[in-house]
Amino acid sequence: MQCANKGCRKVLAREGMAAHISHCAKQKVPCQECGRKVHRECFEEHAAFICLNVRISCPLGCGTNLPRLYLTLHLGKCSGKALKCMVAGCIAIVKQKDVPRHTINAALTHTVLQEGEVQRLRGLMHFQKTKPNWILEEESVLSFRWRRGRWSYIRGPNLFSTEYSCPNGNNGGRI
Ligand SMILES: [Zn+2]
Ligand SMILES: [Zn+2]
Ligand SMILES: [Zn+2]
Ligand SMILES: [Zn+2]
Repeated sequence: MQCANKGCRKVLAREGMAAHISHCAKQKVPCQECGRKVHRECFEEHAAFICLNVRISCPLGCGTNLPRLYLTLHLGKCSGKALKCMVAGCIAIVKQKDVPRHTINAALTHTVLQEGEVQRLRGLMHFQKTKPNWILEEESVLSFRWRRGRWSYIRGPNLFSTEYSCPNGNNGGRI
């Protein structure tokens, strides 16, 4: 007789059947962890990669051991997760658990960067308030000029778009 398991073509005598079923690759066996029935031939794969109840260690190496089911949740807050340093301008990518150490080690760099950032933002705000549309043009390799752009709310009597002028208010002067 043929093995009753779908996909198994084994033909053998009735008395040999029980012995075959106990190791037939196509026999479904229940997973001890999740209760799902899995083909014997797929069982290793199920336990290693699929079963949500099997405990695995965190792939980010934080040492946590948890059911695969909770892995996604854990990865969101895992201390082994690498984050980009929050300080603007700092390009460091640091594991979450190393952030305090990085904050201490990079304190000086951060101060400089933060000051630079404050300056930059101040400059930006100042620039936006005062001279919004000056366009720096390259006239030749060695000289630049500022051209008045779409700057409609101040109309100097002698200002035309092609005239040279300084963005600091010295209208008409060459830089
Ligand atoms: Zn079989
Ligand atoms: Zn399972
Ligand atoms: Zn982890
Ligand atoms: Zn940093």
